[in-house]
Amino acid sequence: MKHRYIFVVGGVLSGVGKGTSVSSIALLLKDKGYKVTAIKIDPYINVDAGTMNPVEHGEVFVTVDGDETDQDIGNYERFLNTEITSINYMTTGRVYQSVIERERNLEYKGKCVSVVPHVPQEAIARIKKAAEHAEADFVIIEIGGTVGEYENILFLEAARMMKLADPEAVQFVLVSYLPVPASIGEMKTKPTQHAVRLLNGTGIQPDFIIARSAYMIDAARKRKLSVHCNMAPEDIIPAPNLDSIYEVPLKFLQDKLSDKILAKFGLKRKNGKLKEWRKMVRTIKNVKREVKIAVVGKYFSTGNFVLSDAYISVIEAIKHAAWYHKYKPTLEWLNSEEYEEDPRKLKELDQYDGILIPGGFGTRGVEGKIAVVEYARENSIPYFGICYGMQMAVVEFARNICGLENANTAEINPSTENPVIHVMEEQAANLAEKKYGGTMRLGSYNCKLKKDTVAGEAYEKRVVSERHRHRYEVNNNYRKPLEENGMVISGTNPERDLVEIIELPNHPFFVGVQFHPEFQSKPLKPHPLFRQFVKASIKRIKKKAQSRFKFNTKRASKKEVLEEFAKAAESSNASLKEKKVTQRSS
Ligand code: GLN
Repeated sequence: MKHRYIFVVGGVLSGVGKGTSVSSIALLLKDKGYKVTAIKIDPYINVDAGTMNPVEHGEVFVTVDGDETDQDIGNYERFLNTEITSINYMTTGRVYQSVIERERNLEYKGKCVSVVPHVPQEAIARIKKAAEHAEADFVIIEIGGTVGEYENILFLEAARMMKLADPEAVQFVLVSYLPVPASIGEMKTKPTQHAVRLLNGTGIQPDFIIARSAYMIDAARKRKLSVHCNMAPEDIIPAPNLDSIYEVPLKFLQDKLSDKILAKFGLKRKNGKLKEWRKMVRTIKNVKREVKIAVVGKYFSTGNFVLSDAYISVIEAIKHAAWYHKYKPTLEWLNSEEYEEDPRKLKELDQYDGILIPGGFGTRGVEGKIAVVEYARENSIPYFGICYGMQMAVVEFARNICGLENANTAEINPSTENPVIHVMEEQAANLAEKKYGGTMRLGSYNCKLKKDTVAGEAYEKRVVSERHRHRYEVNNNYRKPLEENGMVISGTNPERDLVEIIELPNHPFFVGVQFHPEFQSKPLKPHPLFRQFVKASIKRIKKKAQSRFKFNTKRASKKEVLEEFAKAAESSNASLKEKKVTQRSS
């Protein structure tokens, strides 16, 4: 089987949309009936993303087979509607680790093992293995970072070597940025020209440039780039800012990018109109009614900027669910530490239709999270707790409902009298031996659902499989008091009898999950629990509107009543604007 490889590299800036470009190209080729897979290369020394601070790195995306990878893998999964496994992810650390291991095993047969060619050769072997594993017609490979960096040079060298070995099987796409400086008011091509020169210096000539910018690149600038970068003008593909990343494949389709790729590979054009995807994008563009969700976490700020990267899959999953209900999600990132400094601030939570606490680690901001859970529980605000967010819900319930004083997670207070969340047995050993990398309970595990519960009804299944990333769990010794006081354990792991899902009846929606459902949500297939959470949040909007209208309309006419109702619904939406965030999508 002949595999074809498309390397995607970045120029000028990081964060301009390499991941989205890879995902979009992959989707376009898949839509034409080809088998496609995508690989992410991260050029750092870390063996995986699991040991990095989320503020620095962004989200750690967990694969079904338990690898702690980069958020771009999440994008590939969401666009391709498929599972991508560990074989499709590599870092410099991982590649060097294999080379050194092989050298120790005498696999190089006494040769002097050198950075070049042995390191690029190892990268090539991994790329080919992933191609074979997926039986892929096309493999799209994203090389992290930007050209000109010291870090990714060995991977560019691997790409060059592959092109040399089989020129017909390899193409290069440069995703570059074209600034429009306010003081000049014109789109500038010079940084991209330099990026192409740098790439040429590594022996690579791009086949396509994806021209990322705030605006459409015009014919004059295409001509300029064509001359200076030694390319046909039609191979410079416009990529202006769009409202949603899910529109990007449609934009590329309009510019016939996939047909041009096929033509360069000497393959015939094929139909593919992205029918289902187009329908989904139309929905996204047309939704008007808003549902306001607060995400309470701590990994938001870097200097003066707010970054939501650490929670990217959670955010996408909320969007998918809201669009499913034909609502527009308005998301607000709230820093849990603020509720520790000033508990009066909790009142502000009333304005949200739903509150979500995602995964997390460590002490900072934890008491603020517990206060938020208590507020959501007492004030009937839909609450969805994921991993740490679930553990905090258990701690809150134990303290305030079961009367278990000082109940806590052993992660915060290892000597607490009431460790309602305690360390998993095998994890205690890992921690004692300082084995931190890749040792959490990772990847997919089964969860058996209880009938007639929120979770049981949402999934419409008895057993589901969800992805995990944690060291602590609900302490089974406390299940009795928790259940006697009204907490429902609606999901458990059948093999080890671990608590996987908790919920509170008599609440509009109060669900906590030990796993990460966000990793499985797709725009074309929203996750059932997110769907239910957003549904409950929408109900709250309607209820709020209704109670306002009752209050105001003692003796009003029918017309006035209806007007009042519409006004109330609108103002409950208008009180908040989504904060501008910088979202890294590459
Ligand atoms: N810190 C918690 C644990 O390790 C929760 C982890 C998470 O939220 N991903 O169990």
